[in-house]
Amino acid sequence: MLDLLNRPLKNLRLSVTDRCNLRCQYCMPEAEYVWLPREDLLNFEEISRLVDVFISLGVDRVRLTGGEPLLRRDLPSLVRMLAAKPVLKDLAMTSNGILLADQIEALKEAGLKRVTVSLDTLHHDRFAALARFDELTRVKQGIAAAHRAFGTLKIDTVVIKGTNDDELVPLIEYGKTVNGEVRFIEYMDVGGATHWSWANVLSRAEMLERLSAHYGSVTAPANESSAPADRYALPDGTVFGIISSTTAPFCSSCDRSRLTADGMWYLCLYATRGTDLRAALRKGASVDELRELVAGLWRQRDDRGAEQRLALGDRRAFVPIKALKQDPHLEMHTRGG
Ligand code: SAM
Ligand code: SF4
Ligand code: SF4
Repeated sequence: MLDLLNRPLKNLRLSVTDRCNLRCQYCMPEAEYVWLPREDLLNFEEISRLVDVFISLGVDRVRLTGGEPLLRRDLPSLVRMLAAKPVLKDLAMTSNGILLADQIEALKEAGLKRVTVSLDTLHHDRFAALARFDELTRVKQGIAAAHRAFGTLKIDTVVIKGTNDDELVPLIEYGKTVNGEVRFIEYMDVGGATHWSWANVLSRAEMLERLSAHYGSVTAPANESSAPADRYALPDGTVFGIISSTTAPFCSSCDRSRLTADGMWYLCLYATRGTDLRAALRKGASVDELRELVAGLWRQRDDRGAEQRLALGDRRAFVPIKALKQDPHLEMHTRGG
């Protein structure tokens, strides 16, 4: 099943909660937020049914996200239900790592295949400034636990000029100690990033320049590019990634969609409208009816939000704060990143 730009539906980012125990400046900078009503959240049976619908249309990779996914009670039970679906080739999770040390064994035992932990700085004071609370110690414990459980992990870092752009090398060096592949994400002007400006974006080209200046020539391993990250190798063989969503978007090969914790389905990170699959589900739609609904929307998909944003001349924060307050679904922490 292809969309209007010939892209298949392969990846589903599944947000299990919009709540978070951090307040990252690039995602949740405001003092207060309106949360999704609890009664609107899909229960695990509902999530599982919807995942079956997506699987029947080609999805073979699911990533649990949030908000902070580890705040969702009894997450291993959901993982167990999803891991039992033989078609799923990948079942991963992106977490801020704070609660990971306590839960990693249960998640692995339930069938989670791998984890990505977000980590933007190795300095305690900077962590507090960036995320409101200094949770660096617990995040590092979570990363160590993931290393022990899986042997490897990915570490995602949003790079912001003037904030943490002097930590590219220290983060790669830290990654080496935990067999973590660091992926630098360009700062994006997604909903939620109300403080975004071009001046704070460190581009992929600048990142590569700085890393080459430190390590010597950086090469792109042949056939190693797996969107969204472009992967590179240092002279000692260490591999790292760059997700250049802002300066070199990869919309032309984007095979992912997003399901929020309350069952809204979005075809693009920048989509301003989604489809309420929870309503359809709770009205008693059959699997075939849901399948038809999802397939019909995917076939009409022509979203390429990041490319369109790049084409704009004068570019400011994507969604004005007033609009964000009226619809929390526009927020990055509701969409799952
Ligand atoms: N709370 C979890 C975490 O932080 O890993 C999962 C959800 S979070 C929304 C998913 C990813 O989105 C994180 O890696 C985060 O760094 C990224 N993200 C959020 N806002 C961003 C922005 N403005 N630009 C680039 N990446 C962003
Ligand atoms: Fe930070 Fe993730 Fe929470 Fe957003 S959802 S504030 S990126 S930890
Ligand atoms: Fe995919 Fe939209 Fe992101 Fe482009 S902006 S890569 S279409 S989610």
